[in-house]
Formats: sequence, C-alpha cells, structure tokens
Amino acid sequence: MDLQKIRDMMADCECGHKHDFDLEALELGSGLVEKTGEILKRYDFPKKILMVADVNSFRVTKGLYERLLSDGFTVELRVYDSMKVADMREVEELEKLLVRVDGCLSVGTGSVNDICRLSSYRANKPFAIFATAPSMDGFASDSAPITKGNFKLSYPCRQPRIIIADTKILADSPTELKAAGFGDVMAKYIAIADWRVANLVHGDYYCERVASFVRKAVAKMAALADKVSVRDEEAAAAVMETLVLTGIAMQLAKCTRPASGTEHIISHYWECKKLEKGVISDYHGKKVGVATLVVADIYHKLAKIEKVHAHKETPDWKDIQSHYGPALTPDMMKLNLPDTIVNEIPPRLIEEKWGEIRKIIEEEIPSVETLEKLFAAAHAATTPEQIAVDHALFEEGIEYHIYMRRRVTVMRLLPMLDIDPLKIYYNK
Ligand SMILES: [Zn+2]
Ligand SMILES: [Zn+2]
Repeated sequence: MDLQKIRDMMADCECGHKHDFDLEALELGSGLVEKTGEILKRYDFPKKILMVADVNSFRVTKGLYERLLSDGFTVELRVYDSMKVADMREVEELEKLLVRVDGCLSVGTGSVNDICRLSSYRANKPFAIFATAPSMDGFASDSAPITKGNFKLSYPCRQPRIIIADTKILADSPTELKAAGFGDVMAKYIAIADWRVANLVHGDYYCERVASFVRKAVAKMAALADKVSVRDEEAAAAVMETLVLTGIAMQLAKCTRPASGTEHIISHYWECKKLEKGVISDYHGKKVGVATLVVADIYHKLAKIEKVHAHKETPDWKDIQSHYGPALTPDMMKLNLPDTIVNEIPPRLIEEKWGEIRKIIEEEIPSVETLEKLFAAAHAATTPEQIAVDHALFEEGIEYHIYMRRRVTVMRLLPMLDIDPLKIYYNK
C-alpha cells in the first residue's frame, strides 16, 4: 500500500494539525513468510530481534523462525501458551527480554501485538508486526489496551515501523476472527458520530478530513461484507488493508476518537467485569460489533426525540460504585474527579444543539436493519449470547460504561437528560 499517498492527502489540513504517522511499510502478499527477512532488511530493521508469538500464531507461521535464522537474523523466541488477555505482567516480562536485543517482531494479532507494542515502546526498540489474522484494527495503532489488576486502560505507545501480512495465512484464519475484524470496523460509524458530538458540545478536537478518511475505509469494508468470511486471499488482503487504514486514522488524529466510541467502552466494561471473575472474553471486534448494533439502535431511537430538557448531572455514586465493585471503583472514580466530564457542558447547550445531534446520528449511522444485513453477510456475531454476555451484564454495561472513560459520547449525555438508555433500547 502506498503510505506516501496518505501522507500527501493529509498534508496542509484545514484543521491546523500536522497529520503524520510512523508506519513505514505495509507489506501484504501471498507467501510472505518466506520474504519477511528480506522485507525487514529492506527497511533497515535490526538483525538481533525478539520474536514474540503464541502457540497458535507460531503454528500458522510455520517456517518463519527458521527462515529468519537462515536469513542471518539472531532471534530470541518467546512463545506464549495462549494470549487472550494483554496484561501488564507480560509487558514487564518482555521489557526485560528486550534489553538483550535491538528490535521486536510480534507474530499474531490483538493481545500479542499489544504487549509487544507497549514493551518495545518502553524499551525504546523498533517494533514490527507479522499479522496472522484480520481480527481487529489495532495493527497500526499507537496505543495499547492493557489490563492491570483487571482494569483495562489504553497506554500511549508508538506505531510499528513495519506491518507484514501473508494473505494466504490471513485467508486461512478462522471465520470468527475475520468476522471480528469486520465488527471492529463497523464500530467506526458510532465512533465518528460520538466524535462529532463531542466536538459540538464539548469543543473536543475534530478533523473532518480524518473522519472522511475513516468513512471511506468503512464503506470499503461494508461493500466487502459478503467476502469477509470466504477463504479468498484478495478479500483477506482488502480487509486487512481497511483495518490498517482505520488504525492509521487514530494516529493521524492523535487520539482514538476516529476508531472508537461508546460501543468500545461498553465492550471494555463487559470485558473487565468478566475478567474480574476470571473469565476470558470473546474477541475484541466480536464484542465491539455486538455493542455497535445495540448503540446504533439506541442512537436512532434517541434521534426520534424532538426536544430534550437538560440539567447538571448528579450521579448516584453509591449505586454506580456498587456495580463497579471495590476492585474497579478507585480507577473509575479517578476519571470522574473533581467533577464528571459532562458537568463541563452547560445544560442549555445540549438543549440548543439537540437538533444537530439528531442530524449527526442520522448522517453517520446506517439503520439497524442495514447494519444487521451487513453483519449477517459477514457472519459476524450480533447477540449478547454469541459473546457469552449474560442479560444482567449486558444491561449493566449499557447503563454504567459511561463512567469508565473521561469522554463525551452521545450516551454520556443521557444522565443530563434523564434518559435511561435501557428504556430507550427496550422501547419503554
Ligand atoms: Zn485535519
Ligand atoms: Zn477496536
């Protein structure tokens, strides 16, 4: 992919920000296991590296390790049994291992990439990814969601210098993973709507050029919906490219806004609460996709409300804390002190801008029917049962996720409007 074209397209933006990113190369092609050494050398990647994988990603990239050795690389290997949760303990372990080498090659997706991303950033070592499944859009991300004591936070890092993906491996990856990547991209409809609303009522930075860049990538993915789960190298390459593009958008905007809205916070809530009970959640994009459908439904129903009355928010902390529980409450409270973020917004402003908020929802988010058709075509999960989120947790996430981030979203405004999202969802 021509990354320079994106740089040119983003030059001299009217928003005033200088849009740039660190990613030097995205190499997509068939049989790249054999050519990884050559690619790394071409971009002057260090020869003494730590290669990190899990049992699965190591298996599907059979021969990569040996090939790197025969290409003259010195490779230290760390293969995890399974890597479903990216935890600070692993980040710290890798940080120590990285002292002995000059660069880090992460082989896998999601969590493997995330622990490598943060540890190589902390150890100040160049970082490259060999992607094994198009399962989420974090490949080109410059931040890593990591759990620490069951609370999940995004840590700032650097983008990888190089992303390599063998389209044969991507195409052969399980349908569930490919459909998860699709779900993660569909979330951008909500993300862009939330971003525009945060700009409108809270003055958050927003860039229309970045937003339209994301819209184009999402439209491309939507058009490919029926090819997502097919074992087709060309389709897999196109999906992967879209995932990398939406990841790049986050760095262009220097925030996660273009890629994640309230649906991501709901998914994080479900994840943290399950983790607290020692239960590992489903794939990121799979959960986010389900949350996207729920939020789309709630937002479209909100858009039907013609007039709202707003007041300052008066959170019932006792109730909120009882849901977060003693382990998560301190971290959650830190994000809501000295006052909640929405209490920085004059209530009258929301009343005045409500018409525009409704318009943004209608403009940015396809109808639930359209989304459901796309999800079905991509074989993506659509119900809480499919992501093993029970009824109580499902409702809790929708109701209480808003306190988990200091971030204005449409959902975050609802306590100021005395609107219960669940009542809206169930049409009560
Ligand atoms: Zn801009
Ligand atoms: Zn995501």
